[in-house]
Amino acid sequence: MPHPVRPLFLSCRPPVCKNNNEKEFIQAVTEFMKSIDLVIDQYPEIEKYNIIERITEPDRLISFKVSWVDDNGNVVVNRGFRVQFNSAIGPYKGGIRFNPTVNQSIIKFLGFEQIFKNSLTGLPMGGGKGGSDFDPKGKSDFEIMRFCQAFMSELYRHIGADLDVPAGDLGVGAREVGFLFGYYKKLKNEFTGTFTGKGLSFGGSLARTEATGYGVCYFANEALKVLKGDSFKNKRVIVSGSGNVAMYCAMKAKELGATVVAMSDTSGYIYNESGLNLEQILAHKSQKKPLATLNDGSFFSTDKKAIWKVKCDMAFPCATQNELDLDDAKALVENGVILVCEGANMPSTNEAAEYFVNSKIIYGPGKAANAGGVATSGLEMSQNSMRLHWSFEEVDQKLKEIMVGIFNTCYETSIKINRPGDLVAGANIAGFLKVCDAMIKEGVI
Ligand code: GLU
Repeated sequence: MPHPVRPLFLSCRPPVCKNNNEKEFIQAVTEFMKSIDLVIDQYPEIEKYNIIERITEPDRLISFKVSWVDDNGNVVVNRGFRVQFNSAIGPYKGGIRFNPTVNQSIIKFLGFEQIFKNSLTGLPMGGGKGGSDFDPKGKSDFEIMRFCQAFMSELYRHIGADLDVPAGDLGVGAREVGFLFGYYKKLKNEFTGTFTGKGLSFGGSLARTEATGYGVCYFANEALKVLKGDSFKNKRVIVSGSGNVAMYCAMKAKELGATVVAMSDTSGYIYNESGLNLEQILAHKSQKKPLATLNDGSFFSTDKKAIWKVKCDMAFPCATQNELDLDDAKALVENGVILVCEGANMPSTNEAAEYFVNSKIIYGPGKAANAGGVATSGLEMSQNSMRLHWSFEEVDQKLKEIMVGIFNTCYETSIKINRPGDLVAGANIAGFLKVCDAMIKEGVI
């Protein structure tokens, strides 16, 4: 007999009704619910304690005005957000995104996914996310600093080392984290590990910069080994994006024996049959220049979506949400892709993700495959609490173990639910059940 409330989850039952103007948030919840639906009959306590409605409603959503002055003396107003989604298993934890696309829906989808991603790491971290529609592109260092200070002049009262620990995300790198942390420290008059992704001279962790990109490859490597008895050796790889996650994913893929033939940014995609010169791309991108001006002899096209038509063995979407749709997924599978692992958050539309799962290729969803960044943030928090500093090798080794552990958790869960290799269901269910257990034991709060 079908579960009496199950069909309602995806129609007019919260969160869908309450938030039906929040496209990305609904997308993330819909994808999650399809997995939870597979096990909901086995866990009557999910319904008894109304866990679905409780877990899809953030504990707190802070929206605030950020007024600042640009270099020309103009007074600019942006909107800032912090969503504190769930703290059942640890303090809220998640990045801050500065990008013109940021709105409440985007922050809520990211915060929601962060709950399960953080749970999968095995570390005690709840789910949170923040950001602003501020565009750091083309701004001077002093403009960035003034914006970060204005943003923090509100955020500081809501965060803390044992309460909510932000980090970077799109548009928030070492420079921004430095300014945000510096101003937090001044306002609170305390030096604690309230931010991760900090500079190495003020409490940052070695390997945090590389962690998300490296982590995606560690996850993919384990998946290849276990599911196909294969490795990165001699594989043709494409990586979308060319920010921090994409660059370190590409470099680790090359180190593991693959040839990275294509990458992209907002200006287009670059392709080289014999392999891209990653060091040159990294140097170019760190000067904040577009791939369009690289001129290294590689083929360049302004059609960045066409990167998915490049023939490859493995694809790593590392740019942004919904960058890969059903047609792109079909093109990849038709061209013989054997693995797609996501470095970005929700880069595949739900239709694309479902197509990958049904195609029986190895598909590692972002909330599992890109968890290496936040996992290493967790390691930074440990080092800060202990007033210790671990070596690069030590952190990298722990990151590797965590990513192998995440793959195994997802895979074993997929076997338990009779869908061996469905890492989407595996990730959602495993990440959820731990949080669910904590929520039940902590009572209705
Ligand atoms: N923004 C990253 C993510 O999406 C990292 C978050 C963190 O380190 O807290 O997981």
